[in-house]
Amino acid sequence: MPSSEQVIKEEILIPPYEGRSILVRKNEALIIIDVEGKQVGDFVCFNFHDAQEYVSPVHMRASLSSIRLKIGDGLYSNKRRPLMTFEQDTVGKHDFFFPACDYYRYKVDYNMEDHPNCHDNLKNSLKSYNLDHLPVPDPINFFMNNKLNDLGDYEICEPLSKPGDYVQLKAVEDVVIAVSTCSQDMAAVNGFNVTPLKLQVLSSNG
Ligand SMILES: [Zn+2]
Repeated sequence: MPSSEQVIKEEILIPPYEGRSILVRKNEALIIIDVEGKQVGDFVCFNFHDAQEYVSPVHMRASLSSIRLKIGDGLYSNKRRPLMTFEQDTVGKHDFFFPACDYYRYKVDYNMEDHPNCHDNLKNSLKSYNLDHLPVPDPINFFMNNKLNDLGDYEICEPLSKPGDYVQLKAVEDVVIAVSTCSQDMAAVNGFNVTPLKLQVLSSNG
């Protein structure tokens, strides 16, 4: 949430089944709010000045020696340095293990041709910054509740997030981020119901 020294510079509501992108300048904060609860947000992040550098979950898992996201963690890039840091979290359960849902998820697993999907939502939203010609990086899936047991088997459960829960990130560099309201409405991942997310960019007051 904004501190007394911060003001909301920009706010975007991401409707269900869509994506949005936004520029976050170095030292600004980004808040992602789960407006109605139980909604996963697929998140990608590019270095604004070098589109060949982006937040990379596989490098995060290596650099953090973890598949769990904790306060103070860096969001590491494919160049092995943090582009953002994880500052606040009212939920405590997120995922950076799974790919975005995509055309093939709905085609192969459900035989559906035209289901909205996070990959395309993210790609479309990145047109605003001319980044849609690049491969969409693997996402961080905020609010996704992927339960792993001791054997390494997993189960995807409904998110633990309640209405108004949020995460807050801080930009280490100028970054372009994109978020998709995960469009999977036939599984527990979003509680079988796709709902909006809200983005806020906070800048320092003076
Ligand atoms: Zn999705």
